[in-house]
Amino acid sequence: MNKKYLVLPLLIAIAAGCTQKKNGATTTANSQPTPPKAALAQKPKIQGITINGVEGFQDTPMQPDGLWHVHDPARPQPSSVTPGNFSQSAQPPSDAIVLFDGTDLSQWRDKKDGAPCSWTVHDGVAVSAKGDIQTTNVFGDIQLHLEFREPTPPTGEGQGRGNSGVFLMSQYEVQILDCYSNMTYADGATAGLYGQHPPLVNACTPPGTWETYDIIFTTPHFDDKGNVTRPAYVTVIQNGVVVQNHQAFRGATNWRVPGKYTAHADQMPLALQFHNNPVSFRNIWVRPIVEDNEP
Ligand code: MG
Repeated sequence: MNKKYLVLPLLIAIAAGCTQKKNGATTTANSQPTPPKAALAQKPKIQGITINGVEGFQDTPMQPDGLWHVHDPARPQPSSVTPGNFSQSAQPPSDAIVLFDGTDLSQWRDKKDGAPCSWTVHDGVAVSAKGDIQTTNVFGDIQLHLEFREPTPPTGEGQGRGNSGVFLMSQYEVQILDCYSNMTYADGATAGLYGQHPPLVNACTPPGTWETYDIIFTTPHFDDKGNVTRPAYVTVIQNGVVVQNHQAFRGATNWRVPGKYTAHADQMPLALQFHNNPVSFRNIWVRPIVEDNEP
């Protein structure tokens, strides 16, 4: 008999011997107990739904306004505005910290492990790859300028087309997506506060063109017990069009859940997302803003 016909049953027998049942739960050597099958069966399945050609979800929690589910495809699409020309290749002000001038990404690190970031830089353009990146510096209230370019020809649909994102304080995402000719759930559209608040309008230009974000962000404030006393606010100007106007974040942004605040430091890194699509970036600079409490 061929050796493999002897080895295979032996391996199966060993594997079976390492598994035992305890109180209905299954345990395996060197592993945590796994829930019994009945408990697994009760775990709700994620169910997407398509409404008017928009893919999304209605099995998610309701937004605090009680009108829409998180990522609700029925939530109205932002109307489109054709932008003019605004802040393209804007020269950094003298007090700005330049985060990417086309030379290298030495101001950035891999978000997960702090290793030198793996995005490519070519002809003055950084292209997202492999993982999220974050700045070596930390920031609080800021004015941020960056330029991005969606892949052309476009590939993918919905959230799969040119997805990236600006993560303020590493956790509050202003979405980057190719929504020029691509519908998705409104709270995940370009310049949306992901999963929370759609952009006021759709100001996207065609893929392959450079687009600008000018972002003004103020940090959330927390009391000694970690309760939020003032939310984070953001104003976003995309291609010269106001798409978020001093809009409050409801907490950290995430997939399929409403925002939730968890107390954190006053200053944290700025992050850019890699979401399986090669999105280009150039001319990134930031100005820390001093808080002015005078009336
Ligand atoms: Mg994103």
